[in-house]
Amino acid sequence: MKREYAVIGLGRFGGSVCRELSLEGMPVLAIDRSETKVNEFKNIATHAVIADATDERTLKDLGITNIDHVIVAIGENIQASILTTVMLSDLGIKKITVKAQNDYHERILKKIGAHQVIHPERDMGRRIAHSIISNNILDYLELSDEHSIIEVKTSRKMHGKTLAQLAIRAKYGCNVVAIKRGNDINVSPSAELQLEQEDILIVIGSNEDLSKFERHLVFD
Ligand code: ADP
Repeated sequence: MKREYAVIGLGRFGGSVCRELSLEGMPVLAIDRSETKVNEFKNIATHAVIADATDERTLKDLGITNIDHVIVAIGENIQASILTTVMLSDLGIKKITVKAQNDYHERILKKIGAHQVIHPERDMGRRIAHSIISNNILDYLELSDEHSIIEVKTSRKMHGKTLAQLAIRAKYGCNVVAIKRGNDINVSPSAELQLEQEDILIVIGSNEDLSKFERHLVFD
């Protein structure tokens, strides 16, 4: 059976989540207190309803307890976002993802039962900053506050060298978990593999170690 989703708050972020889930053929219940927003999603989501998510009775009447995963994307209204999250948590929703506005909001959300807290503006800002610093950094994915994965193009300093020669783990404490070469992806690269110009390395490590690795080997 397909998982059922609900998106609460149909602003730019929630709207985009709702649209993508619907495009993927997932059943989505879209909720917003604004009639204009709800009308916009009438033909996109499975159901689109005008409702104030801070009202527990309303949430129950909408059958929210049958939903597998609820995404709370109430943007600037932090109070409403917190109230909604507490209620969803009390109702025993299996998976609650909430968009946070700032770090304090994030800390509260985690304490009151959000299973996943996302920070799209902050994360996108970090990714963009990394790609601006160097054209060799293709992507940047935060795993936790302290650890990330980066996708980097082989820099001039790496061309023709083997992973053993570069000693990335020994010198910078990061691990090369995979190497993409054209359409192939090698998930257990040997230390003797010689890097070619178009190779893409996927590297995991603490943010501090990854910065060291970037400064010494990635920036040309
Ligand atoms: P974004 O930054 O993603 O565009 P916004 O703050 O613009 O986020 O949008 C948040 C959406 O959440 C708005 O469409 C707003 O009507 C909706 N919203 C705010 N409070 C509630 C609430 N209590 N119940 C339901 N929807 C709400």
